[in-house]
Amino acid sequence: SVVTRFAPSPTGFLHIGGARTALFNWVFARGHGGKFLLRIEDTDLKRSTQEAKDAIFAGLTWLGLDWDGEAVSQASRRDRHAEVAERLLAEGRAYRCYATQDELAAMRAAAEGTGKPWRYDRRWRDRDPAEAPEGVAPVIRFRCPLDGETVIEDAVQGRVTVPNSDLHDLIIMRSDGTPTYMLSVVVDDHDMGVTHVIRGDDHLTNAAIQSQLFQALGWAVPVFAHIPLIHGPDGKKLSKRHGALGVEAYRDMGFLPEAMRNYLMRLGWGHGDMEVFSSDEAQALFRLDAIGRGAARFDTAKLESLNAHYIKASDDDRLLTLVTPSLEAHIDRKIDDRERTRLTAGMAGLKERAKTLVDLAQAATVYTGRRPLSPDDKAARQLDDTARAMLGRLIPRLDAVETWDEDALGAAVRAFAEEEELKVGKVAPAVRAAVTGTTVSPSVFQVLAVFGREETLARLRDAAA
Ligand code: GLU
Repeated sequence: SVVTRFAPSPTGFLHIGGARTALFNWVFARGHGGKFLLRIEDTDLKRSTQEAKDAIFAGLTWLGLDWDGEAVSQASRRDRHAEVAERLLAEGRAYRCYATQDELAAMRAAAEGTGKPWRYDRRWRDRDPAEAPEGVAPVIRFRCPLDGETVIEDAVQGRVTVPNSDLHDLIIMRSDGTPTYMLSVVVDDHDMGVTHVIRGDDHLTNAAIQSQLFQALGWAVPVFAHIPLIHGPDGKKLSKRHGALGVEAYRDMGFLPEAMRNYLMRLGWGHGDMEVFSSDEAQALFRLDAIGRGAARFDTAKLESLNAHYIKASDDDRLLTLVTPSLEAHIDRKIDDRERTRLTAGMAGLKERAKTLVDLAQAATVYTGRRPLSPDDKAARQLDDTARAMLGRLIPRLDAVETWDEDALGAAVRAFAEEEELKVGKVAPAVRAAVTGTTVSPSVFQVLAVFGREETLARLRDAAA
């Protein structure tokens, strides 16, 4: 059965590319009834603080990507990595290399200007360790095959063939006895039973050597699926400049996790022209061979339009809970029960127009103003003498409305406008300015319905006075 893993190095946040890699691993595993494992590649102890790890856990949790079992710490598995390196040594598949820093520097210098990357010249591959110089702590290198080729049947990239002469005898254990990334990944993927390695295509060049390591150890090579990187709208590799931020930055910008998930799902993968996917649909439809080979482009407008969709689809109580902290920060006090009731009643209208939760919180302030309102500049201009006199005549007409709801209020205002030989478009903005103190709000009749008879008339009287 399928086992995937997400293997981030802790950097302090879960960035967009990492989140998409995690999502593809998760959706593939879940869609196959398999396991999705998490491995923290925390061998760089300086960077791997608890805080940096927590940022990954928090990002995945926010996105709803649950992993199976405990997260595996790569650093905690060093003894096992060393044991495997010893085994490769014992079986002649690895060797100790005593090349000094000076020798390596000379090899590097010789390659300079040739346009080719420098390569260790394998000088200890067949040399007798008895010749080892004094005082040099050796590294352990993998004895990579010199002839033939390594073939990767990549689930995304197709068949990738690498001549083994392009590979090199890479270091698997450093001279201080610590394992390298290349060895650790192979040992961990094997021990964790990983069947599918889905990751960024910046790791494609590692796959050939990793494949050789798996084979040297007599272990099954997992299926590789190297997914193209994400580019910015300008076609360049996604960078901070493009908003390649941590997922928590998108949360703070007011994106819903399901919108983010849906958006990331579509970054490099698609199913026909479907744009909106529930998690269940994504799991049922996701296929590795439908991942595009070209780089995906990050498109903020598309993310916003999906977010607007999910905000509309979202439960009103949940939205209120989500916007309350920023709303309260904005008005610098707690919302009271009456406001909460109004916000609950008004949410259906508010959410129609919001692209983000930040927009929504901003729009929601329409229900938190307290009498007497101080209208903003535009609203104050609306409320000139003519408008205030007109509102004075409107008040008894609204008070006469029997059922205080959106339809009845709309009908009353229309009838009033007709009598006054005015357009509704003249009356409604004045009413909005008087009742909300602003010139933007959801449908004004809905706002009046939410405020109720008493509060609405009181606000109109304040303005008309
Ligand atoms: N830790 C590696 C990274 O953050 C991923 C290794 C892998 O997926 O094999 O890029």
